[in-house]
Amino acid sequence: MKKIVYLLLISLVIVSFGFEKSTDSAPKKINVVIDLGHGGTDFGATIKNIHEKNIVAQIAKKIKSTNKDVQLYFTRTEDQFVSLQHRVNFINELKPDLVLSIHVNANLEKDNSGLDFYIAERNEYSEKSNKIAQELSSKLSENDFIKINELKTAPYFILKNTNAPAILLELGYLTNENDFKYLTDSNSQDKIANSISEFISKLQ
Ligand SMILES: [Zn+2]
Repeated sequence: MKKIVYLLLISLVIVSFGFEKSTDSAPKKINVVIDLGHGGTDFGATIKNIHEKNIVAQIAKKIKSTNKDVQLYFTRTEDQFVSLQHRVNFINELKPDLVLSIHVNANLEKDNSGLDFYIAERNEYSEKSNKIAQELSSKLSENDFIKINELKTAPYFILKNTNAPAILLELGYLTNENDFKYLTDSNSQDKIANSISEFISKLQ
């Protein structure tokens, strides 16, 4: 009798291991789209010969090189013009877990500074986008050289038409002296890219 109980226990252990293995061996791969603002003939904000399209490409490249945990997709891989509609089509075909649209800002008011987060005005994904934006904002605030501004909603094309949680980040103002420094400094770009990379690695 004892032997039978013992065998039964062993088989239970095997079965439970089997179950554990079947669920653990296929964790959900998280898909994230990095939308690189502007490109090609669309330079974006330009100050002192520094173009927005290049800054976002530099940071996207750094995110790509540091992140192995999620499946990353990019709306452009080189300096090319991609229409907003093409970007949205690409995203909606993929149905990713998150879209991060990366930009940098410029303003006539030189005192305007810091990182702005935008999400869509009320849609199916705005609650999730809001939650992720709050968490990402707290992660990026670990970089003490960045001022983090309050989360806002905006009717931007990408945000409005994307069928996925989506956040548009304006990483800083090229027109502000402090922001210009960190946006164009390779070490600071590394820190921003690392924060984003570590954050998306923990997405579930
Ligand atoms: Zn832009």
